[in-house]
Amino acid sequence: MSKNAIVVCGGGIVGLAAALGLAKSRQAVSLLAPRALVHRDTGDDYCPRVYAISPATQRYLHSLGVWELLNSARVTPVEGMAIFGDASGKVALDAWHGVQSALAWIVESSELEAVLQQAVKVYGLPWIDDKFQALGPESCITEAGRTMPAALVVGADGAQSPVRTAAGIEHRVRSYKEVGLVTHLDVERPHAKIAYQWFGVDGVLALLPMPDTAAGPQVSMVWSMRASQADELLAMSGEERNHALEHRLASVAGAQFGRFKVRRPVLGFPLTLETSDMVAPGVALVGDAAHRIHPLAGQGLNLGLGDVEQLVHTVAGRPTYRGPGDIRILRRYRRVRAEPVAAMVAATDGLHRLFASSFAPVVLTRNMGMHLVDRLPFIKRRLILAASGE
Ligand SMILES: Cc1cc2nc3c(=O)[nH]c(=O)nc-3n(C[C@H](O)[C@H](O)[C@H](O)COP(=O)(O)OP(=O)(O)OC[C@H]3O[C@@H](n4cnc5c(N)ncnc54)[C@H](O)[C@@H]3O)c2cc1C
Repeated sequence: MSKNAIVVCGGGIVGLAAALGLAKSRQAVSLLAPRALVHRDTGDDYCPRVYAISPATQRYLHSLGVWELLNSARVTPVEGMAIFGDASGKVALDAWHGVQSALAWIVESSELEAVLQQAVKVYGLPWIDDKFQALGPESCITEAGRTMPAALVVGADGAQSPVRTAAGIEHRVRSYKEVGLVTHLDVERPHAKIAYQWFGVDGVLALLPMPDTAAGPQVSMVWSMRASQADELLAMSGEERNHALEHRLASVAGAQFGRFKVRRPVLGFPLTLETSDMVAPGVALVGDAAHRIHPLAGQGLNLGLGDVEQLVHTVAGRPTYRGPGDIRILRRYRRVRAEPVAAMVAATDGLHRLFASSFAPVVLTRNMGMHLVDRLPFIKRRLILAASGE
């Protein structure tokens, strides 16, 4: 094993992309993760988790050679966005304002994982079917007791990150006291490839365009809702919950989509804001292991894949006399990521705070602000570029 060996811990989208990116830039990398081959949905069955992939991420996945492996019939380009406030505020964004072919693409999690797994396999990348347990000197130890030499351990092991804990990397957590409810819905009227979002004191409802099914138009729901309200819904029996949800959806978005029908189980994800120091000697964090943000902008995975792109660039571009886990190299990675991560944390947390307030002057100002933005093409263009990861 090379003295420059790198072990990526975690086989989610971020971990798979990190292992692939490092292998493609000729690093001696292994993947340490449970080898659960993902089930790829077919026909009118759609994976309950979908992501809005930004143009910057799309370009990176293309450079890794995986974007073209996606089933294009299951990928929906987002050509416009309509954002509503809670008192008649509205902003409409079109891809052409930012001179882009699409603002984002809606892709199922299982599709992304499947093509990344396929690429990792084709590349012949060593994949150890085990879990990270502890750090050793220039190595990591797996749950099965195996010692893997590692000059650099990459923690892509999600929000709970055992790698982050083992390395003692500082980590800050704040609960939003909200749950992100996700499911797919049949709707009466077409979405026309537009992503809709309603901001209100009770939370943020996003309806994302998905491929039509035999039943007609389909959208994917991400509803960031107060935990007490979400828990109430999740505690109901299946039919009762669907009925209650469909009723609430119609009251917020019925004018746009008509009637709703829940077509998949409803899943709930507790929402937190988490940040960390990202590196320690011989250890670098990427993705949710490094930071977790509110999903109102649909940017968490995009931010994680931005980490991957930068880490690969920094490690592969290091001087030959430095190892990949040299803290000077890893600090460089942290330095470059600090600004985009802080900007995304500030934007998502700021928007969340703005809309969480029911104080009348704040309600008035935020809705007036939305009207103003809607009339200013220059600001719209900036917003689109920011949302695109540019
Ligand atoms: C409701 C909701 C909607 C969202 N929508 C969007 C969106 O539209 N666009 C977007 O960009 N982002 C979105 N996000 C954010 C996105 O889901 C996350 O940022 C992303 O999934 C993080 O991926 P990850 O690979 O870092 O972590 P994970 O997906 O959590 O993967 C971590 C992996 O590490 C493995 N692991 C854990 N422990 C160990 C161990 N000891 N050893 C080895 N492996 C281990 C796990 O099994 C898992 O496979 C959303 C989030 C929520 C909650």
